[in-house]
This record gives sequence, structure tokens and C-alpha cells, in this order.
Amino acid sequence: MMICDACRYCEDYCAVFPAMEQRRMFTKADLVYLANLCFDCRDCYYACQHAPPHEFGVNIPKLMAELRTETYREHSWPAILSGLLRRNGLAVSLITGGATLVVFILVLLFMGPVVLTATHLGEGSFYRVVPYVAMTIPPILIALYGLVVFTVGASRFWRETGAGVSDVINLAALWHATRDAFGLAYMKGGGAGCNYPNETFSQFAASVPSHGVLRIPVGSSRDQRSGLL
Ligand code: SF4
Ligand code: SF4
Repeated sequence: MMICDACRYCEDYCAVFPAMEQRRMFTKADLVYLANLCFDCRDCYYACQHAPPHEFGVNIPKLMAELRTETYREHSWPAILSGLLRRNGLAVSLITGGATLVVFILVLLFMGPVVLTATHLGEGSFYRVVPYVAMTIPPILIALYGLVVFTVGASRFWRETGAGVSDVINLAALWHATRDAFGLAYMKGGGAGCNYPNETFSQFAASVPSHGVLRIPVGSSRDQRSGLL
């Protein structure tokens, strides 16, 4: 990032570079903040004259992605589950397989094996194998748990970035952030578009997988407060 500070070629690409230029040394809070401003459009990587194989090996999207993953681990709740993020693919596979097996066993126990092979016709037949209550309550509980995790994580992230309550109720900053978010201000990559997921330019590709729209309000709000935007 010290190289970027000196180079500044990418300063129009997104909110990361103007924010980065405000510092000569970076605290952990600064890094967390910058990492979550980046939405992995990869413009700066494909434009960079110092990217690999250059000896400097500058790869800002990779660096930011690693930092973000670290913040996801730190901010997950309960902390004991943060290890799942290290082996995300394996965890999702095991949980999906385990959940399917549990549902199958519960159906056998409570509904009997016959319902699995019988033909169900008429009103309510959709719920003969897995009753309506069993189909709706668990997803609601999981969604509520997700909401709690999201709220806890957001609050920890907010504290770590050093932002105050005034950032939340700064209407001018919120308006600026909302306009940037819905105008996809940083999805244009300086004009030509984003290079996600490869070198080809696209105006929209980065917005779906990167959650950039959600991250922009956080960044713009604080940047405007500090006179960056
Ligand atoms: S990513 Fe590369 S081109 Fe862009 S500011 Fe940093 S050093 Fe310069
Ligand atoms: S990958 Fe895109 S959003 Fe991230 S720092 Fe580079 S230009 Fe900015």
C-alpha cells in the first residue's frame, strides 16, 4: 500500500485509494476499513504496472480479500464457529449432508417409512412427508440466528474501524453513500468497467458477487465525514 500511495494511478477506480492516501502508516482499524471498502472488482490488479511478475508483486484485491476473510473470522459469532470459515467448502458440504440425513431420520421416526414411497394427492399432500411446521420453523430460527450474527459482526466491525455514533446519523453522508451505492459509483472502474472475474471489462459483473453495493455505504459515509468524497 505504500507503493500505491506513491503511485496513485488507481485513485479514480474506487473508494479504497482515496481513503488509502489519507495515511502514511496503517493501523489495524485502517486495514479493516480499507479491506471492506474493496469489492474485488480487480481493476487495480489488471491496470497495475507493479503486479506480478513485477518484483514488487502488488496485488491489492488479493491482499484485501485476505484481510476481509480475517475480519469475517474475527467477527463471527460464536467465535468457536469461526474455524468453519477456514474450510468453507468442507463445512458447507458436511452441514448440508448432515442436515439432509437428520431430516431423513426424523421423517422415518415421526412419519413412518411408508410416506416416503406412497403417492400423496389432494390438498396438503405437499406436506405429508415433511409437515408444514417442521418445514418453516427451522429456517426461521436459522434466519434469526443469521440476523444476530450479522448484527454482532457489524457492531464489532463498526467499533474496530473507530467510527462513532455520529457516523450513523450523519444524514448528508448517508445520502451521499446511498447515491453512490444505487448509482453503482464504483462499479465503473474509472470508466471502462470492472475486470471481474477476468481481464474483460464489464459494467455490472462485479456488483453481484462482491456485495459492493452493501459495502459502499460504510465507506462513503466515513469518507465524506473526513472530507474524502
Ligand atoms: S495498484 Fe498498482 S497501479 Fe494501482 S496505485 Fe497501486 S501500485 Fe499504482
Ligand atoms: S479490486 Fe477494485 S475495489 Fe478493490 S481496491 Fe482494486 S479497484 Fe478498488
